[in-house]
Amino acid sequence: MKQSILVVNCGSSSLKLALFDENENKLASALAERLNRKDAFARIDDDNRTVALPDGANHKQALQALVSALRERQLMPRSPTSIGHRVVHGGETFREAVLIDSKVIGAINDCAGLAPLHNPVALAGIEASREQFPDIPQIAVFDTAYHQTLAPRAYLYALPEAYYRDWSVRRYGFHGISHFFMANEAARRLGKTPATTSIISAHLGNGCSITAIRDGLSVDTSMGLTPLEGLVMGTRSGDVDPGLFGYLASRGMPLNEVHEVLNHKSGLLGISGQTNDMRSLCDLADHGHEPSALAIEIFCFRLAKYVGAMMASLSQLDALVFTGGIGENSSRVREKTLSHLRLLGFNIDADMNEHHGRYSDGRIEHTDSHFPVLVIPTNEELVIAREAARLTTIF
Ligand code: AMP
Repeated sequence: MKQSILVVNCGSSSLKLALFDENENKLASALAERLNRKDAFARIDDDNRTVALPDGANHKQALQALVSALRERQLMPRSPTSIGHRVVHGGETFREAVLIDSKVIGAINDCAGLAPLHNPVALAGIEASREQFPDIPQIAVFDTAYHQTLAPRAYLYALPEAYYRDWSVRRYGFHGISHFFMANEAARRLGKTPATTSIISAHLGNGCSITAIRDGLSVDTSMGLTPLEGLVMGTRSGDVDPGLFGYLASRGMPLNEVHEVLNHKSGLLGISGQTNDMRSLCDLADHGHEPSALAIEIFCFRLAKYVGAMMASLSQLDALVFTGGIGENSSRVREKTLSHLRLLGFNIDADMNEHHGRYSDGRIEHTDSHFPVLVIPTNEELVIAREAARLTTIF
């Protein structure tokens, strides 16, 4: 019998499905957006046709509608042989992907306080999939799990230790599925094994994080207790002085507003006053819009500082890797960032960078660079499918 794996990725207001065959080919994909809103919308990517949803559809309704549409259009003629779910927060409980049972569901629920926008929707996706496919094994892959190898010196904040003991306050890190993919794919491209490869992986999308990977394991990362820490992002501030909270409170700003500003109105959007989209920012900057040019400047400078910081965890560096929508596509961001790091020996080839490494197996470094620099498209869905296949011994 032919095997297939369905990957389910529930975001706070979105749901993405991807179907893979046993040879890792993507057979179909589908998307629902603006869930729980009046204008909820869904489509099958393969034929670009929309899928009808009830007004204000939730994750469960969207999953049901998309699965029915995939079946009707013969894109998923029979049930998948296993299902993999992306779950944002696994706390300290989950160090790797697991087969889902009621105990696992309870533990994901226990971590929901750490990811209140994300874990409940992942659980909704899991419940809906279990209803639709009651006899099919399901697995959970966690965004935090890959970073569970951080040592206390990297994951503890300099706070009274009771905060960690009683309230689990520590750095968890996110984007682990993408950074794990980079660790493996970079090693493959360098002709090495992951266990002997050390890289710095910069995932630059609307959310951004950077991870130091030593011998295949995450040893430091820029996101922390929440995804707000670290790099400048599309709408998140990244690092700010913790004294800012008290200062804004003294100006009469309520805590929920501070939270809203730092998460949704800051970063590239906040600095430029225009957009969180790097492509649009580059266009605006080219047309003389100074706040947009400044947003790019700050984004790249913060990133460069973090590349330097990540080197503190490594004794060798086999490659610096760029990924995510910005990392994969913005030659300007890569060039600007690395222009700050000449002292460390980074140098890229202008032409290879302009072509995003597409004709050089991802490589964009100049021959005199001390370190290889790679551009690698991320593939989180494939990691989830592989984990589902591994845990359900399909292959
Ligand atoms: P992601 O969250 O990984 O989909 O990445 C979204 C970000 O990638 C947005 O800021 C996009 O503007 C940016 N992006 C996508 N394509 C390009 C491009 N060709 N040049 C610059 N930025 C891009």
